[in-house]
Amino acid sequence: MLNDGDKGVVIQRDRQTYGIAPHVPCGVVTPAVLRKIADVAERYSIPMLKITSAARIALLGIREEDVDAIWNELEMDPGNVVGICVRSIKACPGTTYCKRGQQDSLGLGMILDDKYHGLELPGKMKIGVSGCPNQCGETSFKDIGLVGTAKGWRVYVGGNGGTSPRIGEILAQRIDTDAALQLLDRILEYYRANAKPKERMGRMIERLGLEHLEEALGLGSDA
Ligand code: SF4
Repeated sequence: MLNDGDKGVVIQRDRQTYGIAPHVPCGVVTPAVLRKIADVAERYSIPMLKITSAARIALLGIREEDVDAIWNELEMDPGNVVGICVRSIKACPGTTYCKRGQQDSLGLGMILDDKYHGLELPGKMKIGVSGCPNQCGETSFKDIGLVGTAKGWRVYVGGNGGTSPRIGEILAQRIDTDAALQLLDRILEYYRANAKPKERMGRMIERLGLEHLEEALGLGSDA
């Protein structure tokens, strides 16, 4: 019997089968990857493929004896679907394809995925990037959310879903991509130094105050 996280699996409701969700950065896949997943699903009689809210393709209902062979055939990164770390980086198409895009959310999302996916932290962390204030990347509900505007990036902190949902607060506005990347590094440093074990960003901000974070990062009230 495997546990959640072993070999990238999540135990399913029947307590006998497993789900896996290979890492697909920002949900971008190629026809070859889709074909490979479809071929594996047919070969191993996987009963369901499900697109997840984190823009992965989950393969559900896998028998334990098939897990190793399926990963070998997929040749894909298991990613981090469970664990106390940076989980998903969600990004909309932004200026790559969307006519409303004001910043390159997909490009920034890919950089963030490369830098941070799987990074161990005090609590679970989700990051979203939207190319414009329509926020298709659900950025206000992420621990850290970046929203593109005509004048640069707006950065939200402290959002989450779950049983006690919370909308993030604006920490900085009108900053360019390099400044946003530097700011994220510093937010994560602060979070690592100040959060209690398993405490999400929003709960930490409620406990310490947004001003504490702003002061630690040297941000003024009109940042
Ligand atoms: S958030 Fe804006 S840029 Fe991104 S997909 Fe939605 S409308 Fe397009």
